[in-house]
Amino acid sequence: MAQIELQGLAGCVRCPRLVAYLARLKPAKGRVRDAYHNGPVNGFGDLQARICLVGLAPGAHGANRTGRPFTGDGAGDFMYPLLHAAGFSNQSEAQDCRDGLTLKDMYITNAVKCVPPDNKPVAAEFTNCRPYLARELAALDNLRVIIALGKGAYDSCLKLFREQGMIARLVDYPFAHGAHYRLPNGLWLAACYHTSRYNLQTGRMDAPLFNEFLCLTQQLAQEC
Ligand code: SF4
Repeated sequence: MAQIELQGLAGCVRCPRLVAYLARLKPAKGRVRDAYHNGPVNGFGDLQARICLVGLAPGAHGANRTGRPFTGDGAGDFMYPLLHAAGFSNQSEAQDCRDGLTLKDMYITNAVKCVPPDNKPVAAEFTNCRPYLARELAALDNLRVIIALGKGAYDSCLKLFREQGMIARLVDYPFAHGAHYRLPNGLWLAACYHTSRYNLQTGRMDAPLFNEFLCLTQQLAQEC
């Protein structure tokens, strides 16, 4: 599993609320706590990728259990087969870190690396974790398109670009599914509804919509 090395991530305790939450998180029914990753979850994928997908944060019993973004919960069960069908991986299965999955032309990470209560990081946690995201984006030499999955990830990307002096005002880049903006450094930022269980159950996100979005990002990657 190829990963960008993020020094300090493994033992990071910058967010006391999240550290405390991890310490008391109970395993899902039928699972044992010792089998959980229970720590910051690093991104993974193709280090030569043109596309980086940024999610919100690890799921309590998905990425926080398996140690790999979007692996082991409903969001990943929906997404990985579609990524495979679109040519972004060698297989559709994504069970755990030993399943043999490799990504092609895509790197996947989260805006916040530790699982938050109720899937809702607070503003300070996005801020604390942004330096890791910044290092990941900077390390991807062939990066052309950043996919932000959901508004939380999207806003954190925009705040990173503002901190870096690349953009002035967040309001100039409104979130909408499929919205895509060329940043001053030539990268594309593309917004996508999250593949969360809630969005899938309510029909806000479905396979045709996600497939269409993946096509868009592949076109954007060619355009750069
Ligand atoms: S969310 Fe990020 S900054 Fe906060 S403790 Fe986890 S790794 Fe550190």
